[in-house]
Amino acid sequence: MTSASRGPAATKLRPPVLASLGLAAVLVCAPDELPLPPVVWEGENIRARMDDPDIQVCGGTFEALDRHAALVREALLLEGDGVVEYSIVDDDLVQDICAGHATDTPTACATIPELGRVYTTVPYVPHEIVHATRLLDSKIRFLSSPIEEGLATLFGADWPDDIVIPLEAQAILAERYVTGLREYDRAGQTMSILLDRHGLEAFREFDELARTAGEDAAFVDVFGETKEEFAAAAETRPICEQSQWWMPLVECDGEPITADPETGLLTLEGNVSCGEPDVKGPEYGRMWTSRRFRLDFRTSFFHSYDFDFPDDATLEIVGCNEGCPERFAYIGTRDQVSGYGGNALEDLEPGEYFLRLIRPVSDDDGHFEIVIAPP
Ligand SMILES: [Zn+2]
Repeated sequence: MTSASRGPAATKLRPPVLASLGLAAVLVCAPDELPLPPVVWEGENIRARMDDPDIQVCGGTFEALDRHAALVREALLLEGDGVVEYSIVDDDLVQDICAGHATDTPTACATIPELGRVYTTVPYVPHEIVHATRLLDSKIRFLSSPIEEGLATLFGADWPDDIVIPLEAQAILAERYVTGLREYDRAGQTMSILLDRHGLEAFREFDELARTAGEDAAFVDVFGETKEEFAAAAETRPICEQSQWWMPLVECDGEPITADPETGLLTLEGNVSCGEPDVKGPEYGRMWTSRRFRLDFRTSFFHSYDFDFPDDATLEIVGCNEGCPERFAYIGTRDQVSGYGGNALEDLEPGEYFLRLIRPVSDDDGHFEIVIAPP
C-alpha cells in the first residue's frame, strides 16, 4: 500500500506568511540603481550577498541554494548560466524593491530580466531561485503570474501545511496576480498536472514560443488545448497536499543511503543545529536537514523503527518518485511517530524516500539517529 498517510492528528507547523513571496513585476527604479550588498559566499550558480554579516544563516544554506539553482535549470530545461545575485537585506529595502501588484507586504522577490536578482529578508527562499533562474534564460520571457508562481511553488519548497484544498484550476489560471498561500498551492498543483499531462519538452517549447506568439496562442499551439480546456481536465484529477505533488529536487538529489549489508540496518543520522554544514535556514523561523534513502525491504511498524531525535523536531518521510495521489508522505512529531495520538509512521514499501527533520532555528544540539530494520 502506498497511500498518503499524513495523519489527521498530526501537529502542524503553521505556514509562513507566504502571501509576501513574489516576483516584482514593476520596478520603481532602473536595474543599475538597485543596491548590491557585499558578497559573502560564491558558488557556481548563486552569489550570496549580505549587508549585515551578523545575520544568522545556517551552515548548508548557500550550498543548497546553489545546487537548487542547477537542479531547477535541469528540471525545467532552462538555458543560460548566469549567476543569481542573492541578497539578504533588511525589510525596508525589500519593501522598496518588491512591493507591487501582487503584494504590499513582501518578504522576498526575484527581479530584473537577464540579471536574475533576489532580494529577501529570509535567508533560505528556494522559491525565488526558481524565478531568478527563469529570469536568467534569455530565450524565454516571464509568463503570467499563475504559471510563474505555480512553477516557483512546484519546484520551490514544500510548506509544512498539509491541507488539501479544491484545485479550482480554471479560476487560478484566470487570475491576474496570484498571491497568498492557498493560491500558490493551487497554481503549483495546476502546473504539476500540466507538466504531467504534456511533459517537460512540450513545456519548454511553449515557454519559448510564448515569448513571440503570446502565452494563450502558444498554449493552444503546443498543448493542443486552450487553457480553459486544460483547466477543466485538471479539475477532474485527484487533488493532494503539496508533499505529494511538489518536486523535492534538493531532497532527492545525490546517492541514496542504503542499508548496511552486514547488519541489514538502514541508519539515518546527523545533527539539526544551525551551524551544521548540511542544515538549511532560517526559513521563516525554521531550519531543517534531509537524507535521501533507498529501502530494499518492506518495513513493519511493529519491528522496524528506532527513533532518536529532538523533542522539538518534526519528522517527514516522503517518497522521491510518483506523484499525487500515489506518493507516500508522512509528517509527525517525536511523540506521534511511535504511535501516540494515532499518527504513527506506518509500514513503508521498498522504494526511494527522503527524510526531513525540521526544528525552530537554534544552535542547540539536534542530534538524530533513525534506524530502520528489516522485519
Ligand atoms: Zn513567487
